[in-house]
Amino acid sequence: MDANDDTTPTGEDVRRLLRHWGALWDVDELDRVLVRTSSRMFTTLGNYRPHRDEIRLASHLYEVGGPDLWQEVLCHEAAHAAVWRKHGRSVAAHGPEWKGLMKAAGYSSRATLPTTPELADYIRQRRQARPPRRRRRRVKVSLPRLLRWMTAE
Ligand SMILES: [Zn+2]
Repeated sequence: MDANDDTTPTGEDVRRLLRHWGALWDVDELDRVLVRTSSRMFTTLGNYRPHRDEIRLASHLYEVGGPDLWQEVLCHEAAHAAVWRKHGRSVAAHGPEWKGLMKAAGYSSRATLPTTPELADYIRQRRQARPPRRRRRRVKVSLPRLLRWMTAE
């Protein structure tokens, strides 16, 4: 967990949960997965990147989505990490293996989590607050002018 984000639970909270699920799922060292937050995630709440062994959670997830949703998303991604450790790329991401782990952890095995009104609101506001993408302006520069500019130093 990023140290600069004090709205989310501590790294120790995360480790404890990962150790708990690791024991439950019989996966060694699940708590070695790197868990970070990202402020640039809008359409997803979390993801797992096998090549980095890293879970990313949307930085607004805990504060806006609440602790229950946060924990479910963390579990969802931890289950991906566990499936990766057990099966690599030989099984589907949200296949029976992954569903079994979610069920064992006490969650429904829905692959997509419903957004809450608070989350939808938050995302709408963030989208509106983002500055419009600047249009690339084509600037015509004549060669003599360009040369002048380059040697102007
Ligand atoms: Zn997933």
